[in-house]
Amino acid sequence: MGTMMDLDQSLVELRQTFRSRRTRSLEWRKSQLQAILQLLRKKEDKIFNALHQDLGKHPIEVYRDEIGVVEKSINHALSCLEKWMGPKKTRLPLVFFPASAQVLPEPLGLVLIFVSWNFPFSLAMDPLIGAISAGNVVVLKPSEHAPATSSLLSETIPLFLDSKAIKVIEGGAEVCEQLLQKKWDKIFFTGSQRVGRLIMSAAANHLTPVTLELGGKCPVILDSLSNLSEIKLAVKRIVGGKWGSCNGQACIAVDYVLVEDRFASVLINSLQRTIEKFYGKTLDEYQNLSRVVNKHHFNRLRSLLDDPLVAASIVYGGSWDEEKLMIQPTILLNPPLNSELMTEEIFGPLLPIITVDKIEESIDFINSMPKPLVIYALTKNEAFKKRILSETSSGTVTFNDILIQFLCDALPFGGVGPSGFGRYHGKYSFDTFSHEKAVLQRSYWFELEARYPPWNDFKLKF
Ligand code: NAD
Repeated sequence: MGTMMDLDQSLVELRQTFRSRRTRSLEWRKSQLQAILQLLRKKEDKIFNALHQDLGKHPIEVYRDEIGVVEKSINHALSCLEKWMGPKKTRLPLVFFPASAQVLPEPLGLVLIFVSWNFPFSLAMDPLIGAISAGNVVVLKPSEHAPATSSLLSETIPLFLDSKAIKVIEGGAEVCEQLLQKKWDKIFFTGSQRVGRLIMSAAANHLTPVTLELGGKCPVILDSLSNLSEIKLAVKRIVGGKWGSCNGQACIAVDYVLVEDRFASVLINSLQRTIEKFYGKTLDEYQNLSRVVNKHHFNRLRSLLDDPLVAASIVYGGSWDEEKLMIQPTILLNPPLNSELMTEEIFGPLLPIITVDKIEESIDFINSMPKPLVIYALTKNEAFKKRILSETSSGTVTFNDILIQFLCDALPFGGVGPSGFGRYHGKYSFDTFSHEKAVLQRSYWFELEARYPPWNDFKLKF
């Protein structure tokens, strides 16, 4: 993207396309979704390469988290689109008789999508699928911190999709600020709380609705399980949910684990064995771990360990390779709660374990922190599950697994409080990019005269 004039021209063209009404048809929406499927098939190698360049992601991880997830969302949208687009009849109270009512979804218009760097392909495509499904025209702003994926998106999207309706604009904070001066009909933002605040205040100038998909500290509550095989499985899921998807750089990654004192050493040993089995023992062996995205985040993560009390709490790992931007999976036992490690989102391969006397105390612990995007609870205790649901607040609660909820189109995905607001995935994506127009129809063959003056005692009683 060059000058502001290019941007202005692009926006004029997008508005014209929207006014032409072609993005509203079922055929156009389906053709664009199918075009993304084509892009996935024809450019698969380029996607693997870009994700490897940006984050050192293994192709299997790329397939699972960046390509497969998008394919799934498209297939779901293609199979449901016609139904989602149709009007929904609603029942009216008798007092409205004779009348009918329906809710009619309509596209919002011109939408702006900001993407974060950690899943720079799928977190661009997933909201794009929602915006297209709902019949909008779109500007997509990929993350400048995943430059290979950003240029892949800006080169390939115009080759496959309708370039008069969907445009990619690359750039950093300066370009974002220019974009935010413009009027949009919706802004969908995935990123940090800091930038989320900027987005919301800029959107306020035009009364533009926003969806903010932000982050936070997602806890795991690890309760006592009944037998060794369940414990092993729970630990595998924690390891996969901490290091297995972009090496902890995921908004829904495990941030810290809460466990009873008496289980801490068993947990640490078991985590260590599983880490070494999955990824290896030393920095040189880590072929299946993504790297830290850039020097800035590498230094940020390393500086979390500079605090001597935090460093003293390391029970596994703690080494790094600055050239490769790799930090060893690192476990910390009871680091100070006022350290940055415990007050800020970690977003990297460091895992604090916080011990409690009784696992039920983890509810108070979680409630002492800002509301997280997800609470994970590995427990079979039904009464405890009920307490977690009724006494805590989070975007999602997942029992007995980690990360998997992200793949479930039947559930809304989004935060609450500082972890964001608005939701998407499946039908929720369609709704996020639609206005639900209320339509009421009455007829002329009956009238209730009591609704009109002159008022009198009879009408008052009526
Ligand atoms: P970020 O806030 O730095 O950047 C996100 C987007 O905002 C990028 O496209 C960036 O170009 C743009 N941006 C940067 N500066 C801007 C400015 N001054 N004005 C307007 N826009 C600007 O976030 P990030 O570092 O890319 O991502 C990490 C954060 O994202 C973490 O907090 C993580 O939890 C969160 N995240 C949330 C989800 C979710 O679905 N809830 C998913 C992934 C990441």
